Amino acid sequence: MNDYNAPENVLSEKVILITGAGAGIGAEAARTFARFGATCILLGRTVSKLEAVYDEIVAAGYAEPAIIPLDLKGATAKNYEDMARTIQDQFGRLDGVLHNASVLGQLSAFEDIPEDEWQDVIQINLTGAALMTQKLLPVLRLADHASVVFTTSSVGRTGRSFWGTYAVSKFATEGMMQVLACEYENRNVRFNCINPGGTRTDMRANAFPAEDPQTLKTPADIMPLYLYLMGDDSLAVNGQSLDCQPK
Ligand code: NDP
Repeated sequence: MNDYNAPENVLSEKVILITGAGAGIGAEAARTFARFGATCILLGRTVSKLEAVYDEIVAAGYAEPAIIPLDLKGATAKNYEDMARTIQDQFGRLDGVLHNASVLGQLSAFEDIPEDEWQDVIQINLTGAALMTQKLLPVLRLADHASVVFTTSSVGRTGRSFWGTYAVSKFATEGMMQVLACEYENRNVRFNCINPGGTRTDMRANAFPAEDPQTLKTPADIMPLYLYLMGDDSLAVNGQSLDCQPK
């Protein structure tokens, strides 16, 4: 589905929450979903970055987004409950969630992973997405068809030396997606994972500082699969982990 040619209004009438919407793949997903008709809810920890994406979307004449400033590191179940209530009051339902925000943490030998580093990466990449999903499910269930997309990585499928906590968080993300996909089979919420593959962002540059970024796909290049999974053309797809750049 990486050659998916999305119909112009494939996301019209859809309300979609994107985490980590201020930079990298999340910012591009927000701009793209808005261009294809969605009303976007931009969640992230740096308000100025969210505001810049908001301004671009409004300037382009697309549906006005909402902004939720939230640092997943300190967020609690109560924050997510409040967020779900606000979304229900403002929009009446939620049609999609792109769980995109993540941190890489330090790449190091397993023996050297500091305890606080482990806790932070698991909190942001896994627990945040888990609690948010749990608290958003009632408002997702109010949509005709809702799509929840988690973001995985190739190191979430095959372990690799020195990718420590990040890799473990992505393996667990794949597992969480499968559990949810089974529980909600034949209901109105579907769950899948996307693996972007190497993409030209700050995270990739931090992981591979010697790499020439010009050799990588841009976030815009990989959007067809994101549009496919968010739109109703993928209604039958549940429990899959799909690659933007299959080998
Ligand atoms: P970036 O580091 O460029 O962007 C990550 C986004 O997540 C930023 O907007 C960042 O906000 C936000 N974020 C980080 N921590 C928190 C937090 N505690 N609370 C709220 N928001 C937070 O990453 P990419 O765009 O490269 O990655 C997007 C997703 O794709 C991630 O899940 C990543 O694991 C995955 N991925 C990326 C690959 C790549 O090659 N780029 C390859 C495989 C997977 P802020 O800007 O304010 O820090």
